[in-house]
Amino acid sequence: MTERILIVEDNPLNLKLLKVILRPYGYTIFQATDGEEALKVAVKEKPALIMMDMQLPKLSGIEVTKRLRQMPTFKHIPIIAVTAYAMKGDGEKFIAAGCDAYLPKPINTTELPGVVAGMLLNTKARERI
Ligand code: MN
Repeated sequence: MTERILIVEDNPLNLKLLKVILRPYGYTIFQATDGEEALKVAVKEKPALIMMDMQLPKLSGIEVTKRLRQMPTFKHIPIIAVTAYAMKGDGEKFIAAGCDAYLPKPINTTELPGVVAGMLLNTKARERI
């Protein structure tokens, strides 16, 4: 079974870019373009990892992350915060909200596949303990 990844991104070009980068690795990719849709799709599709834009319509990425972390299904899956407006202290804020890592935009397309694969592997290692 291929790993399921949810990409939450309201910018169509960024969404397309993330899909194009990750698709060759055989992931099953789901998408959401606002915070409310992100919650709905996550609950329905139970992804193994979420890429979460922080600036989203309806509900912010931080709010979505906090709500997901309150649900048992999403307590331990990797959530990667993605943001264009990282200010000093923002990283800490995202981590405090429950994100496992954060990546600044523009996304480093060379590094992203390794980051995603590494986080999926870590989750599996933890599940075996
Ligand atoms: Mn956005």
